[in-house]
Amino acid sequence: MQKKLLAALLGLAALAQVHAADVTTAMLANTAKDTKEVLSFGMGTEGQRYSSLTQINTRTVAKLVPAWSMSFGGEKQRGQESQPLIHDGKMFVTASYSRMFAVDLKTGAKLWKYEHRLPDGIMPCCDVVNRGAALYGNLVIFGTLDAQLVALDQKTGAVVWKEKVDDYAAGYSMTAAPLIARGLLLTGVSGGEFGIVGRVEARDPMTGQLVWSRPTVEGHMGHKFDKDGKASDNGISGTANKTWPGDLWKTGGASTWMGGTFDESTGLAYFGTGNPAPWNSHLRPGDNLYSSSTVAIDVATGQIKWAYQNTPNDSWDFDGANEFVTFDMDGKRYGGKADRNGFFYVIDAKDGKLQNAFPFVKKITWATGIDLKTGRPNFVAANRPGDPTKGEEGKKGSTVFSAPAFLGAKNQMPMAYSLTKLFYVPANDWGMDIWNEPVTYKKGGAFLGAGFTIRPIFDDYIGAMRAIDPKTGKIVWEIKNTAPLWGGVMSTAGGLVFYGTPEGFLKAVDARTGKELWKFQTGSGVVAPPVTWQDGGEQYVAVVSGWGGAVPLWGGEVAKKVNMLEQGGSVWVFKLPKS
Ligand code: CA
Repeated sequence: MQKKLLAALLGLAALAQVHAADVTTAMLANTAKDTKEVLSFGMGTEGQRYSSLTQINTRTVAKLVPAWSMSFGGEKQRGQESQPLIHDGKMFVTASYSRMFAVDLKTGAKLWKYEHRLPDGIMPCCDVVNRGAALYGNLVIFGTLDAQLVALDQKTGAVVWKEKVDDYAAGYSMTAAPLIARGLLLTGVSGGEFGIVGRVEARDPMTGQLVWSRPTVEGHMGHKFDKDGKASDNGISGTANKTWPGDLWKTGGASTWMGGTFDESTGLAYFGTGNPAPWNSHLRPGDNLYSSSTVAIDVATGQIKWAYQNTPNDSWDFDGANEFVTFDMDGKRYGGKADRNGFFYVIDAKDGKLQNAFPFVKKITWATGIDLKTGRPNFVAANRPGDPTKGEEGKKGSTVFSAPAFLGAKNQMPMAYSLTKLFYVPANDWGMDIWNEPVTYKKGGAFLGAGFTIRPIFDDYIGAMRAIDPKTGKIVWEIKNTAPLWGGVMSTAGGLVFYGTPEGFLKAVDARTGKELWKFQTGSGVVAPPVTWQDGGEQYVAVVSGWGGAVPLWGGEVAKKVNMLEQGGSVWVFKLPKS
């Protein structure tokens, strides 16, 4: 009896402990300001990647040294694009091939590891990457390459729930960090190169049960779900065939592969959508809503409040998937987006009205600009790849040189916003030869109808870290980089901007001038965003290292230029020496 009572009391104590460490909706709403923890992708759901910490600053950063490093191990390495999360004395970091690690923050010792068992037939388009996890309650949740969501116990790594999101054999996969907003788990899907249908879904983060689902291809029905999982219609997403001819809306792409951001003041979640499928735009005359767009979704209802299409009738794989980062300007709430198509957009976060749009790369061939009145691009018709039905024997359309390349003026690497009122954008100046070919949809097959070769534009660099003023469209400073930039950015109140390079360096530069103040060679390419936090009076910076991602796979002439870069897989943590 006494034993039983003791066990019960211990049980209660354990329960109380778990509750003390639980991640709550209130904590997530405040995480951008909380300097002790990093509870979400984007270092705050709005995705500014800004920290108010100042111990590591323009004067002290030169002394920054490693505190510890941990290897992800394994025979398989490839691209490591993950942003670590920091909570309850632990780091939660995902790795290639749908792996997750929990690490002791003080010592760098591995606490547990979860390796998702992947089937042979997975079809990630652009390497076996994962960009991070979400925290809620006692769970750490991430998406896998076979399109599942897995929720693990933060303490033990045990699987608490697992849900199949969609069919990997049809080309669905998941690589983005899930977003938690107002107590809901919001996720997208990858697979735009295989004719999947993009969508945003909301789930109960504690159980994985669906709450609503919202497709991002016009013609598909959205749904809400009751407690028993019974679906009812949530309103059709526009009119079938209005912007999509024939049956193409059924395999229309618009994948939500980068996940979303959430703004507390608007109550809206912002998800970028990828290319319309197939790439051959002559098969689908019309705008092809909501491909290559930002959709703003009311988290409470799952309804699309507004959408802004960056590239109507996209012909260049200019996925509009890039992050929409909300910020204050002139007393209003706006969102900034550095689109793959080469233009930086400033959009009213509440109603989607375009405020400003300007180039953030040197060369753009597909449009001469964005009309601020209509919000539409001024297309250069001659620079759209030609219609294959009008080409030689109906097999290949005319080839055009296009800039940016389809890997984008910016790709998955997230930018940062700072108290300098500047955005820090990891950009790439490159182009491609692109042509169209006939194509028909086949489940699980590439659905492109296009061929391409990516080429550098300039001899001396491809990547360029740029400080951009969203108000004026001016590039305040830039730092050129030989290889294409593929890692994210972080800004701090210490007057610093941190970013990584494929050449292996994590760098810290002066946020106002771009002057390089510190760098460290991590041993492999950095294609992931850094984070920072404070623990026991000391400020730490962490970044994942491991070259890979889309560039070595799809980069054409550029891939050849960077084929000497070595793979890896580790996480590094830095701090100032105790003086
Ligand atoms: Ca795409």
